[in-house]
Amino acid sequence: MTIGIPKEIKNNESRVGMTPAGVFELTKRNHTVYVQKEAGEGSGFSNLDYENVGAIILDSIQQVYQSSDMIVKVKEPIAEEYDLIQPRQIVFTYFHFASSERLTLAMLKSKAICIAYETVEDEDGTLPLLTPMSEVAGRMAIQQGAKYLEKPIKGRGVLLGGVPGVPPGKVLVLGAGVVGIQAAKMAAGLGAHVTILDVNMKRLRYVNDVMPSHVVTEFSNEFNVRKHIQTHDLIVGGVLIKGAKAPKLITKDMLKNMRPGTVLVDVAVDQGGCMETTKVTTHENPTFIVDDIVHYGVANMPGAVPYTSTLALTNVTLPYVIKLADKGWKQACQDDKTLARGLNIVEGEVVYKEISEAFGWEN
Ligand code: NAD
Repeated sequence: MTIGIPKEIKNNESRVGMTPAGVFELTKRNHTVYVQKEAGEGSGFSNLDYENVGAIILDSIQQVYQSSDMIVKVKEPIAEEYDLIQPRQIVFTYFHFASSERLTLAMLKSKAICIAYETVEDEDGTLPLLTPMSEVAGRMAIQQGAKYLEKPIKGRGVLLGGVPGVPPGKVLVLGAGVVGIQAAKMAAGLGAHVTILDVNMKRLRYVNDVMPSHVVTEFSNEFNVRKHIQTHDLIVGGVLIKGAKAPKLITKDMLKNMRPGTVLVDVAVDQGGCMETTKVTTHENPTFIVDDIVHYGVANMPGAVPYTSTLALTNVTLPYVIKLADKGWKQACQDDKTLARGLNIVEGEVVYKEISEAFGWEN
């Protein structure tokens, strides 16, 4: 099969759909891989890195789309890419169709086979191609939060780890899922005192088993949230209710009970945020202040660490890319139900019912 890796053209996206390690695996299996010139640059991979493992470098994005049976990328195609997609071409990437009717209509028109990373789903309901990005965001939440706690950036002026003779800072983590556990682990590693809340007792039991004793679990309810926000320096929002908007666990009226300079990092911002005052922000301008409380609401946190994020993402996408390349999409999806759940649009037809439902297209 011929596989194309275009350079991402969405604003501020430096990740790439395949690393040289992926090209190595595919060329070893006699597939041909076309990589657009400088596609890997933002993630630290040069044209030569790809050429050394057998990739063919093409100058333009048009050439990549025209030459490839399958396109592997990171972000959903943007308007400039719509007409480049070929009938019966496999496009394997994040799509998030339900949030864009325009993209959905464009992909229907293209007659391509769209396999969405975000709906590739294991038997137990976990989403293996989303997990690594939550891991990155959870860990980053502490790195960012620690920075914004500094006084010059309007934080409380607290060093999370404390120093000998001075107690450490306190971190409250809402949600003990992938984001929450990674955040708690990072905060604990810095020496902070960590409280983690969830409504799922299984998650709390797990955290209690695996974390050090300065990570304390508590059940998530309004009483506990109101109690802890008064004494914690950094609050990380990592709650998710699948298929729904995030519940607002911190409302505007609660801000007055926090100490000035408290930092809120609402990782769940991409699902509307679990804090009422959250707004989507960007890496260029990541924070804003409401009632003396610092808010951080970047919706694509992994985009700031493309080297790590590209490796984390391609580690989990590559096994599926190999199956698709070796067997073709029909056989690969027949043999692997997890991958089959990624099929969203096939040659002009929506095959994932939540997309039709999102636009009220179902009969
Ligand atoms: P997850 O499903 O692994 O975890 C969510 C947790 O929230 C679950 O354990 C659930 O029990 C818990 N929860 C639900 N209701 C709760 C409540 N009322 N109180 C406390 N906990 C509650 O999800 P995840 O992978 O950790 O993702 C969390 C959020 O982060 C999602 O919205 C995801 O889209 C988002 N995310 C954002 C970025 C970013 O760049 N901003 C990156 C990755 C993920």
